[in-house]
Amino acid sequence: MALRLRLRRDLVCQQAVELVTDYLEDTLSRGDRRRFESHLAGCPHCTEYLAQMRVTITLTGSITPEDLTPVMRIEFIDLYRRFHATEAGTESATGPDAGPWPEPDPQDPDT
Ligand SMILES: [Zn+2]
Repeated sequence: MALRLRLRRDLVCQQAVELVTDYLEDTLSRGDRRRFESHLAGCPHCTEYLAQMRVTITLTGSITPEDLTPVMRIEFIDLYRRFHATEAGTESATGPDAGPWPEPDPQDPDT
């Protein structure tokens, strides 16, 4: 069978979240680690989530599955949904100038 499961190449956010603790404990397989890192490269939300988990580990010294409280996951998934809603939710936004925030200044002030 020459069926290629391209879907397996890219992680969705929920899968990435599931892998965060394994990633931080360095228990991911090489392939999973690569996919996880490639997802992070294109997903600021998961990057932020990973950063939060690192802080948690710094504070607690370790992390267990119990530390991943359902609330944390729900908050993250809510964030993820809103992020995608702004991308795909153009049906309800009829005005082209309905953007809630201005364009970021393209000039980098970091001099
Ligand atoms: Zn993500």
